[in-house]
Amino acid sequence: MNSVRYTWPEGKKCAVVLSFDFDGITPYLWRSRHSQSKGISEKEQRRFGPRQGIYRILELLEKWEIKGSFYIPGVTAEEYPQAVEAIAKCGHEIGLHGYLHERVDELTRDKIEETLIKGKAAIEHIVGQRKMGYRSPSWEMTEDTFEVIKKYEVLYDSSLMGADHPYWINQMVELPVQWLLDDAIFYRYVGGGASVNPPANPATVIDTWKKEFEGIKKYGGLFMLTMHPWLSGRGSRILALESLISYLKMDSEIWWATAQEVAAYHQSLEVEGKNACLTEMIDR
Ligand SMILES: [Zn+2]
Repeated sequence: MNSVRYTWPEGKKCAVVLSFDFDGITPYLWRSRHSQSKGISEKEQRRFGPRQGIYRILELLEKWEIKGSFYIPGVTAEEYPQAVEAIAKCGHEIGLHGYLHERVDELTRDKIEETLIKGKAAIEHIVGQRKMGYRSPSWEMTEDTFEVIKKYEVLYDSSLMGADHPYWINQMVELPVQWLLDDAIFYRYVGGGASVNPPANPATVIDTWKKEFEGIKKYGGLFMLTMHPWLSGRGSRILALESLISYLKMDSEIWWATAQEVAAYHQSLEVEGKNACLTEMIDR
């Protein structure tokens, strides 16, 4: 690894992408596919996302004139087409996120291809044909999956953590994520008592994200925040997210972009051959 700074457009010091994994109930359905429980509690908890959370997020982004990146499993698109239409109507990016939120490390290559085709078709049925980026469900990734997304001319992947700025892996642009910038590790709670990872105080979460932002900016990286409407759509968390946005909006050295814009920028650097961070980082 070199210590050369990543170059952002217009002399900006870092980039900020607000991304949302609009899962609906699909992770639950995938997890319980062999043994469906009679219980509806977690399903209802998750339905809060497509029923209410997503609309609060869209309202917040509109207020602050931010375009986000939304990754949607095919089944969620089929169940909540109005929400997908609303996301598209606001001009946000829509990306692929499996069909039933399948973990790709549990699938054969053929099955991965099938889920990609079905997931893409479900979204395009609502918003029309388009080229999209990909975020793997549960951030699990495999070599087979890279082969499949390349075959279908997916624009980029955003599932891995091998750097904190865009990089290349398997001839694909990678827009890195990280656990510290995922709302699920702080907010996801589906019962079990206070001793089982109780939901964090939103003020603490925002403070953590601000500190991570300062670190990423210092080293010129990509602040890719990942949120889930069923978690971050709750009232106190929306208010906290707004306080973070308001804090970040005061910083004129940020490049605000969608993931797709960052991927296109990274690709353009290769064409111009002017960034030191272009070489594949795999195995190095
Ligand atoms: Zn997801």
